[in-house]
Amino acid sequence: MDVSFAGKRALVTGAGKGIGRDTALALAHCGAKVTAVTRTQADLDSLLQECASITPVCVDLADWGATEAALQDVGPIDLLVNNAACASLQSFLEVTPDQFDQSFNVNVKAVLHVSQIVARGMKARGSGGSIVNVSSQASQCALRDHAVYSFHDRARCSLCSCPGSGATKGALDILTKVMALELGPHQICVNSVNPTVVMTDMGRLGWSDPEKAKTVLCRIPLGRFAEVEDVVNAILFLLSDKSNMINGVTLPVDGGFLAC
Ligand code: NAP
Repeated sequence: MDVSFAGKRALVTGAGKGIGRDTALALAHCGAKVTAVTRTQADLDSLLQECASITPVCVDLADWGATEAALQDVGPIDLLVNNAACASLQSFLEVTPDQFDQSFNVNVKAVLHVSQIVARGMKARGSGGSIVNVSSQASQCALRDHAVYSFHDRARCSLCSCPGSGATKGALDILTKVMALELGPHQICVNSVNPTVVMTDMGRLGWSDPEKAKTVLCRIPLGRFAEVEDVVNAILFLLSDKSNMINGVTLPVDGGFLAC
């Protein structure tokens, strides 16, 4: 499948590492003018060394005011990927208010905020657009120790499926659907991808132990975790004009985990 994003302007959050970084590079490779948003300047510096056409924005998306200021001059955006997420390590009975707030601030509230900023511009220009939220397979499957967000007590958890999960990703899925409902009349499509484990920095933190990895792998019919490229390809498809009639879906990229 050939996709071109020539003439499109894209914004990717969490573009410093992992899935977000490769999404930003892939979009640039396919012709988009990419704005990469993340909070570690060194990651943006190395990203620009790899692809000089990318526009860097360094901001902590948990900070509403700083995000507003940082994004006010990014200009029109046609394609948005809300990928940034944070991870924490507490089980349900140990979740603290701070951790709860931090997780929801980045994984849900920042998605709402960045999407508001971008979608207001899309609506005003009347040219439509596409938004992809990066969720998780665990948003749709109750998993031990995944009460609030991503990470959990790894020492105790043998059945959970991935670090990105729990209440924030469940909230993100329904946010995706409401956005699809309300933005659809403006020809703005909103969908999510819901990956299984991917061995990024985040994935490695939770799943490097082969014994523990086995407990998830045995529940994935394809018998492997997702590669970053698998997720990037699904994101590119949902951003492209090949998926023009797809709106409001939460698309598993999980080798069949959720089918079982
Ligand atoms: P990653 O390798 O940890 O990369 C996450 C990126 O987001 C980093 O560049 C990080 O910057 C940035 N970020 C985090 N919090 C931020 C904030 N407050 N402001 C700005 N940038 C922030 O993670 P990943 O594995 O690529 O995950 C990407 C997405 O996929 C996430 O939404 C995650 O929940 C989801 N997901 C991942 C997996 C998996 O197994 N890896 C599975 C299912 C879903 P810093 O490094 O500077 O913090």
